[in-house]
Amino acid sequence: MTTLERFDPTGIQRVLCIVAHPDDMEYGGSAAVAEWTAQGIEVSYLLLTAGEAGMRGVAPEVAGPLRAAEQRAACDVVGVTDLTILDLPDGLVEHSIETRRRIAHAIRQARPDAIFTMTWDLEAGWGLNHADHRATGLAVVDAIRDADNPWLFREQLTDGLTEWKTTWLLATAHRPDHAIEVSERALELGIASLAAHREYLEALPDHPTPHDLVTGVLTGGGEQAGLPFALPVHAYRMG
Ligand SMILES: [Zn+2]
Repeated sequence: MTTLERFDPTGIQRVLCIVAHPDDMEYGGSAAVAEWTAQGIEVSYLLLTAGEAGMRGVAPEVAGPLRAAEQRAACDVVGVTDLTILDLPDGLVEHSIETRRRIAHAIRQARPDAIFTMTWDLEAGWGLNHADHRATGLAVVDAIRDADNPWLFREQLTDGLTEWKTTWLLATAHRPDHAIEVSERALELGIASLAAHREYLEALPDHPTPHDLVTGVLTGGGEQAGLPFALPVHAYRMG
């Protein structure tokens, strides 16, 4: 049944993707990114943490740099050169003023037309959502408004940096109402970008293969939109 409207990227020149961890973009999101970069849209990634507490058998001092390097490789696959990884503590990200300040600064720098993030719902499609994902999503919602308010975080507004209004917020796995159409080529790149998290995935033996996982997400989204492959999102126009 076709229930999702195709998201029209006309007019979007820059997208900023904001997530908590290395690999968060790679469960379908990066296939949409591959589609966008192929269309000439500039895409940047902002990760709030290096995911250093995400590998049970690997100490954070080793896991952080390892996962950052795997994220860089994942970005290369889908045409993203602008990757920023903040130093917030993995597993302990807070929906705080400081987190909003850091995100608002990145928004004012990147000046995106659309921001892409993950759902902040407690109950996400796959089960109970991670604390960092919830905190990040909520902080992103607030920081979009903060970045547009010239009276907030005024210390950032120097050296030509100004307030910035983002038009769209796209959130995955969050009561989708739109679908981002993805070509077969972009699907393949999306799979390859998840596979770039090689050592991280090797440490999760029960994890589905990147092929099965990303294809499943995008085929399911496509079915809901009457398209071969699509990523379901909730598209909010920011007032
Ligand atoms: Zn995550």
